[in-house]
Amino acid sequence: MTQAPDDAEARRAVAPVICYPNDSLPVPDLALYAKALAGADMVDVAIAEPRDACTFRVPAGAFFRIVSIEGPQVGDLNLWNAHDLSERFYSGKTRALHGTHVTTGERLWSSFPTLRPMATIVEDSLGWYGIDAFGGSVHDVIGTRCDPYTGNLLSRVQYHHCCHSNLTRALAAATGLSLTEAERHVHDVLNVFMCTGFTRDTGQYFMKASPVRPGDHLTFFAEIDLLGALSACPGGDCSAEHTSDLAACYPLRVEVLQPAAGALEGWVAPRVNGYDRSHGA
Ligand SMILES: [Zn+2]
Repeated sequence: MTQAPDDAEARRAVAPVICYPNDSLPVPDLALYAKALAGADMVDVAIAEPRDACTFRVPAGAFFRIVSIEGPQVGDLNLWNAHDLSERFYSGKTRALHGTHVTTGERLWSSFPTLRPMATIVEDSLGWYGIDAFGGSVHDVIGTRCDPYTGNLLSRVQYHHCCHSNLTRALAAATGLSLTEAERHVHDVLNVFMCTGFTRDTGQYFMKASPVRPGDHLTFFAEIDLLGALSACPGGDCSAEHTSDLAACYPLRVEVLQPAAGALEGWVAPRVNGYDRSHGA
């Protein structure tokens, strides 16, 4: 332990400032989205089976909804530009812009150099949860995804149904890429329905039983043409452990909903980021 300076308490007492004040972000027209969603028809359904993943395609201007159907279950979500897999969901920047957990009105942002909203959350049936006494909340952008490499590092296991592998298999099947090629496109996820936080004493990432129940759902508006992949995490409700077959696991349903023609009058798909990419050279 190092020796604290005389003014340690004064230094600790300095008030924090928000790194990225987000009041200058473009504001999504949630009323327009809600109206379009109310008249939308379900045009496709995909099921992520327990300890496995599914893919789905959502055209720009449509919605997708992730639904808990049989029991409490956490899902790991990847999103790509349907026409260019190099544009993908950027969990870290989404966290920097919106915070550790996301809910209605917040957006999933894409990687550099596009950095634009890929999807906007328009409904969150767990929006009531807020932040609990442990500092936990739902739908996090802090956990990366369960993966067999960390499992091997910590427990020397060869486990093949972590979300990372589930997403890799699903993307390979959807695109015709080899597993090796597909794996490179799998990225840090949105942990749908997962309840997480950081411990106050050690700052460690924690999880706890998800408050999700069958019927709960999280609905997104697709701002660009999307290819999505959703894994039903082997952790189930993530109350105890993942990277094993011990937890009770349930499927998750993904619904794709198409609004009526003309329902999005005035909506314009987001353009790619405006930085000129000259990097000072
Ligand atoms: Zn997982």
